[in-house]
Amino acid sequence: MGMAIGIDLGTSNCTAAIYRKGKIESIPIEGRKILPSVVSCKDDGRILVGGAAKSRLYIDPENTVASSKRFIGDPGKVYHIQHKTLTPVDIAQEILQKIKQEASSYLGEEVTDAVITIPAYFTEEQREATKKAGERAGLNVLRLLAEPTAAAIAYGLDKERNQTIMVYDLGGGTFDVSILKVENNSFKVIAVDGDAMLGGDDVDELIVQHLLNKIKTAAGSNQSVQGSLSLQRIKEAAEEAKKELSESDVVDISLPDIFGIHIEEELDIEIFNHMIEPLLHRTIHKIEEVLQSAGLTKREISRVILVGGSTRMKAVQEAVTEQIKKPYIADNVDEVVAYGAAIMAANLSVPDLDSTPVPIIVEEVTAHSFGVDMIDTSDHRLKVFHLIKKNTRLPCTGATIGSTLRPYQPSIRAGVFRTESIMPAEEAKLGELHLPVSIRPYHVSVVSLFELDEDGILTFSTAEIAKGSPLLSSYRKNKEVDLQLLHSMIHQGEIVPQKIVIDTKKTEV
Ligand code: AMP
Repeated sequence: MGMAIGIDLGTSNCTAAIYRKGKIESIPIEGRKILPSVVSCKDDGRILVGGAAKSRLYIDPENTVASSKRFIGDPGKVYHIQHKTLTPVDIAQEILQKIKQEASSYLGEEVTDAVITIPAYFTEEQREATKKAGERAGLNVLRLLAEPTAAAIAYGLDKERNQTIMVYDLGGGTFDVSILKVENNSFKVIAVDGDAMLGGDDVDELIVQHLLNKIKTAAGSNQSVQGSLSLQRIKEAAEEAKKELSESDVVDISLPDIFGIHIEEELDIEIFNHMIEPLLHRTIHKIEEVLQSAGLTKREISRVILVGGSTRMKAVQEAVTEQIKKPYIADNVDEVVAYGAAIMAANLSVPDLDSTPVPIIVEEVTAHSFGVDMIDTSDHRLKVFHLIKKNTRLPCTGATIGSTLRPYQPSIRAGVFRTESIMPAEEAKLGELHLPVSIRPYHVSVVSLFELDEDGILTFSTAEIAKGSPLLSSYRKNKEVDLQLLHSMIHQGEIVPQKIVIDTKKTEV
């Protein structure tokens, strides 16, 4: 086996690290610790990744893609650059290929394996797409590890004490909050929450809107503020201003010759903080929810760790201090996630535990609940019955038994949902299961299995159950599937589940 590394595949930037000879090392990519998550295509079809691509954001924004992690797993998203059609998976693949190449040449040995980090709140589609990108880049993906979990591992928390840790992770495009119990070398996630569409990009967008309003006022409402080059310059200025406000209380934004006018704008921290308050509020609300799901009060949190570039904003640190307690901020905020991934990679790639320098146990949970719709016999309404509940430890299985409603019925249908609610809302629907069954003069029963693996990737399988099966009688008695019995019947070959693909009516990612 070649080398195993940890990769933080961020919305804005990526970092890579390796654990070897008893210590953690950052792996430089093109001589830098950070690789911008940007891909650009030149006129001649050549693809650039990282810093070179990022600088083309201003010269050739139409053929340059940034922040595409926000769309990974979204089957509808494609980029048309230089006659090529690229999906977010293709973009991630290019980035990962670059990391693999650079890391292999830096380490002097081929990198074959990787632990790739993902937001804890990523859905199975987003996880699957990330894993696919890794595999297409020629990496054996040892594990997808949640970024907050990786951060908690990397902080190398006091080994003697038992602690309950909250990780608040606000990056470029995503927000995650996790609560972990750390005991000696075991890291158990007990609850996660987050928002896959909330991050520093949204903060930039607020400043952009603020600047566009100023421009419109200065230039008159007839002025068209179109043109991606100028917009890109405003975006760049907005991000710079935001970063400066993490250091000082006021920033001067200067945009000479933008849409034909000259903009000089002073932005002070109070106005900025007021502007971003609704975004911060959303993160605070998630903190409250995650505490509630963990069954903890804020006093029971022993340490809060901040991760992600956007936690450098003063308002974030103040809000966290006010809500929970003064957070711990690492010096190497950009690298901690890759460090945790590297420690995990070392653990998973060294088969002999004695030679693993830092044996750790990691348990993660699912960030979402899954279920199928069925008629509730008490009120005859269609409801979602949850088979896997949010915050269940991974890997996990959920199962239900359905039956045909009339003799000779050829198949059973069920809607599959990812939702916390019992209402079968269309937007929460993952797809439909159509399960063909043997055509019989009596009711035929089928067991459907939902399995989430360690990476949080979902598979469905189904099997017909013979009449008079003990699984059926126990289900009738207890109203739930006896998973232990089911597993043992599968093990003994009495039930043979077939993997099925749900009809999501979506195209391939
Ligand atoms: P990450 O995905 O963790 O690399 O975070 C990237 C996000 O952090 C981007 O939205 C950056 O604009 C933001 N960021 C980086 N440095 C700072 C800073 N000093 N102050 C505020 N935001 C920052």
